[in-house]
Amino acid sequence: MERVVVTGGAGFLGSHLCERLLAGGHEVICVDNFFTGRKSNIAHLLSNPNFELLRHDVTMPLYIEADTIYNLACPASPIHYQFDPVQTTKTSVHGAINMLGLAKRIKAKILQASTSEVYGDPEVHPQTEDYWGRVNPIGIRSCYDEGKRCAETLFFDYWRQYKLRIKVIRIFNTYGPRMHPQDGRVVSNFIVQALRGEDVTIYGEGTQTRSFCYVDDLIEGMIRTMSTPDEFTGPVNVGNPREFTMLELATLVIKMTDSKSQLVFKPLPGDDPRQRKPDISLAKKALDWSPTIELEQGLERTIKYFRDQAKAA
Ligand code: NAD
Ligand code: UDP
Ligand code: UDP
Repeated sequence: MERVVVTGGAGFLGSHLCERLLAGGHEVICVDNFFTGRKSNIAHLLSNPNFELLRHDVTMPLYIEADTIYNLACPASPIHYQFDPVQTTKTSVHGAINMLGLAKRIKAKILQASTSEVYGDPEVHPQTEDYWGRVNPIGIRSCYDEGKRCAETLFFDYWRQYKLRIKVIRIFNTYGPRMHPQDGRVVSNFIVQALRGEDVTIYGEGTQTRSFCYVDDLIEGMIRTMSTPDEFTGPVNVGNPREFTMLELATLVIKMTDSKSQLVFKPLPGDDPRQRKPDISLAKKALDWSPTIELEQGLERTIKYFRDQAKAA
């Protein structure tokens, strides 16, 4: 049994990770400041004697003892990370420094939840880990993109300088139950709009692409990354390489929810990447991992979640 710290543990991905680690017999310390996380995501874990919840902001130092650290703390949806962009950069950068300092003191293995956003608006397609990316350093997405890039830099410098055991995974768009209904990400937006019979909002012409990974697949990839030999640091792409336009996604969601919603077109936000699709050759080789849940299957479960939430409200 290991003692595992999960920062951002009350968020969408973090809550699934806590659940999975507890099921694996580990002790979990969930660290969260509840900026975008919710108590309801982890309410069912509170009675578990192996689960501990700590309200804490990772931009502040943290002195605890553990064996491994998963660093997920950071708002992930554009409307949330752009709400207080200075705080977003601080969370990524100061948060990484504090968690790396913690890992260094207690000799813990530490994983960073990085992102496909480090590739920016990519001119290499699909994206491989050796691609350096095309990121605007001064745009509205930069607080997130550059914060995450700097966090990767810190991870690799702590590895080179202090021989820390690090793992960096680059997560591509992931969806599933416990996404915040108002967090503005495309899958939750489309499902919530379709279930309410409201217009489904396509930004731009809807020809931009994303590749959507179901949460259970992602968590499996994350746990496998943590279990790799110490020599393996990543960065490793974890995502589902099936690529869709936003128009295709909207049409599928409307069909699957049996909705009468209409498509409406809204302006495309600044610096919105035109295409995104992971090359997962490295994950296949190093983690023996590839996604198992197709979009239709994952959407079915996610639609059920949002339906149940609407009924309970
Ligand atoms: P989320 O917003 O649901 O979760 C983030 C969690 O971090 C929340 O619980 C929030 O309260 C917490 N948090 C934010 N700032 C904090 C701070 N300063 N101190 C402590 N806690 C703080 O988002 P998510 O989708 O679960 O994303 C989790 C991680 O995975 C993030 O680091 C995100 O960048 C990364 N990621 C997610 C995706 C995705 O598609 N979901 C894609 C790429 C990367
Ligand atoms: N830190 C922490 N918990 C610890 C050890 C360190 O939060 O158990 C933070 C502390 O704020 C420190 C930062 O991590 O400034 C970086 O630690 P490091 O040892 O790399 O550098 P220091 O600033 O201590 O020289
Ligand atoms: N998007 C959209 N309608 C929405 C929300 C998002 O068309 O209601 C688009 C957005 O412009 C982007 C894609 O969907 O091109 C994915 O957006 P999301 O915020 O989910 O993730 P990210 O852009 O960070 O990959």
